[in-house]
Amino acid sequence: MTEPTEDDATGGGGRTHDERGTDEITIEESDDESDRGAVDDESDRQESTDEGAGAGDANGDDGQHVDEEATEQESSDETTGDYRAADETTTDLIDRDAEYVERAIELAEESVEMGNTPFGALIVVDDEVIGEGHNETRTNDDLAAHPEMTLARWAGRELDADERARCTMYASTEPCPMCATAIHYAGLDRVVYGVAGETLNALTGDVVTIPCEEVIERAGGDTTV
Ligand SMILES: [Zn+2]
Repeated sequence: MTEPTEDDATGGGGRTHDERGTDEITIEESDDESDRGAVDDESDRQESTDEGAGAGDANGDDGQHVDEEATEQESSDETTGDYRAADETTTDLIDRDAEYVERAIELAEESVEMGNTPFGALIVVDDEVIGEGHNETRTNDDLAAHPEMTLARWAGRELDADERARCTMYASTEPCPMCATAIHYAGLDRVVYGVAGETLNALTGDVVTIPCEEVIERAGGDTTV
């Protein structure tokens, strides 16, 4: 467990802090449930289409063509089945992700108590928290002392590439383009965040709203956002 130093708390206030973060997460979770609903609907449609294909087969015209369709249908069904199975494990993952994002929000609240703006992040590998970071831009008088940046640099120093490729970075807010690039350089596996940069920008107006995902995509990175 590594905690970046937290000395000389000067300054204070800053952007208002962060119960809204919790709201955001609730919203994302409910979105997700509706996604699952959509998947179920699709699989229902899939089944009824299957019956349609069976009826075509019974008619017997253009047998070759119908067979091909049936084969396609089967492979679609397999895909749907896989997706469902993946969805169940994803639910566990989402629960864990939500817990870690909650922790990132706690770290953001601590950052405010220390005199900084409300951002926090942590790194998890194999379901173990190995590093936590506060925002320290004010207390360290360092415009780059975002918690994601601090942790990405720490990971680059302390972990080997294989370990970094198993790390998930959790952040209270979507990592800014600077931090997204650092995360890409560190070669982390995933990024999960609470509040979207666009949402934060609507509140504060001073965010560089290039999405984290876009930065990593355009860098050709493998990190999942
Ligand atoms: Zn940043």
